[in-house]
Amino acid sequence: MDSALEAALRVQIMDWVRERAEANGGFLHRQELLGFRIADRDLPIIDYSRGIRNPQGFSSTLSIVASASGPYDDVEKRDDGLLHYAYRDGDPFRGDNRKMRAAIETGQPLILFRKEVANYYTPVMPVYVVDDYPEERTFVVALDEAFRYMGDVRDLSEPQREYARRLAKQRLHQPAFRTRVLLAYETRCAVCSLRHGSLLDAAHIVPDGDPLGTPTTPNGLALCKIHHAAYDHDMLGVTPDYEVRIDLEVLEEIDGPMLEHGIQAMHGRRLELPRKPADRPSRDLLAWRWERFTAGAREVR
Ligand SMILES: [Zn+2]
Repeated sequence: MDSALEAALRVQIMDWVRERAEANGGFLHRQELLGFRIADRDLPIIDYSRGIRNPQGFSSTLSIVASASGPYDDVEKRDDGLLHYAYRDGDPFRGDNRKMRAAIETGQPLILFRKEVANYYTPVMPVYVVDDYPEERTFVVALDEAFRYMGDVRDLSEPQREYARRLAKQRLHQPAFRTRVLLAYETRCAVCSLRHGSLLDAAHIVPDGDPLGTPTTPNGLALCKIHHAAYDHDMLGVTPDYEVRIDLEVLEEIDGPMLEHGIQAMHGRRLELPRKPADRPSRDLLAWRWERFTAGAREVR
């Protein structure tokens, strides 16, 4: 395939993936990815069984799948903010491995799919294959093209590493957290039941910067944009018994329908919880946050 055509196809595929993911709430279902068609041609975006997807005619890899094994993943193990992606079994210079290596030369962007739970994929893109460690049989994948030009990635400066780690947090861990939380809540706001993935966030119960603020479902709540912001600003609180409370001052305010129906009417509602007990918000973490809410200058009833 002509390289300009291949590059154009990649752009179209990535645009489509981005659009679908945004509509769903940050993720795609396996069937959507396998059923993709373009110009009357089937072009599955992931491979049916392997982690590396090399469409016929493409000079380099289109997508790779990384399974999440915990709140953090392979990226964290090295502390360099880069993804170390294992070669496919077999000859390191043929087949899938050859097309991954070709991506180092062509500089063509790839899509990294984080598989959070069975059948659901969080796209992270564009990513770039920047190096190859034959002795470890791994490719090094970066979240910014700039890492192609930083020389030997084994020898990055501390600010470069820090940049890579920050990118990993923003572009890999936060989106993955959102997917896990939204799926646990069946893509519904825990406070008002709104079902539009594009309007939902994963809120941290204990904020991100705190040692307890891990990106795990027991520290998460699926909330719509309004309820997320209200929660973060302590206008809305959640008791350790899963009840919603609105700050007294806000409760007495007089304003339009958004305040009345969207916020004040939530006072006293019970959270809609994930079906799986392991995904439910931790009462201890809710208690930590509830204390902050009630300690605020505002009064709660
Ligand atoms: Zn809501």
